[in-house]
Amino acid sequence: MEPSSIHVPDNYYSVTIGEAQMVVLKRYQNLRLIGSGAQGIVCSAFDTVRNEQVAIKKLSRPFQNVTHAKRAYRELKLMSLVNHKNVSFTTFYFSFYPIYFQIIGILNCFTPQKKLDEFNDLYIVMELMDANLCQVIQMDLDHERLSYLLYQMLCGIRHLHSAGIIHRDLKPSNIVVRSDCTLKILDFGLARTAIEAFMMTPYVVTRYYRAPEVILGMGYKENEQLGTPDRSFLERLQPTVRNYVENRPRYQPTPFEVLFSDSMFPMTADSSRLTGAQARDLLSRMLVIDPERRISVDDALRHPYVNVWFDEIEVYAPPPLPYDHNMDVEQNVDSWREHIFRELTDYARTHDIYS
Ligand code: AMP
Repeated sequence: MEPSSIHVPDNYYSVTIGEAQMVVLKRYQNLRLIGSGAQGIVCSAFDTVRNEQVAIKKLSRPFQNVTHAKRAYRELKLMSLVNHKNVSFTTFYFSFYPIYFQIIGILNCFTPQKKLDEFNDLYIVMELMDANLCQVIQMDLDHERLSYLLYQMLCGIRHLHSAGIIHRDLKPSNIVVRSDCTLKILDFGLARTAIEAFMMTPYVVTRYYRAPEVILGMGYKENEQLGTPDRSFLERLQPTVRNYVENRPRYQPTPFEVLFSDSMFPMTADSSRLTGAQARDLLSRMLVIDPERRISVDDALRHPYVNVWFDEIEVYAPPPLPYDHNMDVEQNVDSWREHIFRELTDYARTHDIYS
């Protein structure tokens, strides 16, 4: 529990949520815990200014070490870049909302601390969604919903890539969904820019060659279901990794009809344009170990299982503002703290955070 003698400035109030003390702007009322992650806790709240429900994330102890501090900076910075309002586009749509429909939008950010040397708590206010994908995949979904969720994930990934951002931590808990089946990607904590990825150490690079079934955590027994990768792929691996793969027994791939049998897919409704066979075909193109042979995001968007939702305006939304690569140099905690504090001050100068 944090100290209860915490200083609460004007325009803010303090409320205890579980183990955490939240000091938030008074405009946000009725806080309720909805989730927690590696970085902190997330509450729903009612925004009395905009008259709508929002999500507020408190990054817990963002300055405990360099990794946390850098993650916090990236999350704030990348969210606000991805989220900038492109004038011509938003004017066209008369939209007050962020233009990247499939990436969570930042609505506000603040800290109750007024000075850099006191700065310790970072709050980010976002659009509120209803559930994360861990919860949604437990439900019985029909082909229409499955393919719509997939289409939106692909759009979101395309937007990130068009900004040179690689998410690196895409998993069901980082994807949130509304009850109307709209979907958004969250959490840019581990996001890397393409330039950084290029400069990564061999160890990290090799992780990109991990078999999809390993990444998917399907378990050791099933690890070789896609079969041993072919020679042309092995030749492109780091020598140590190649050695490891070559010294393992050779496996024939299990046919996709066996891996993903008809009974694993929803029944195809008579009226539906979408079938389990199409879903399986798309999976077989996505779960390819060799990234050069794996279906690209653009081609996946054109696949018959997904292209029923294809909307050029959504898919080809203009690229987000570029991320400043100079920020990617290693810095100490105090330096990250200063950058984040400056971002918050700039935000407060250019937006009315109170009302
Ligand atoms: P995070 O710390 O960003 O990984 O979020 C942890 C969990 O909080 C997620 O898995 C979601 O269940 C929930 N969550 C985060 N942001 C939102 C949001 N904007 N709307 C609804 N739930 C959210």
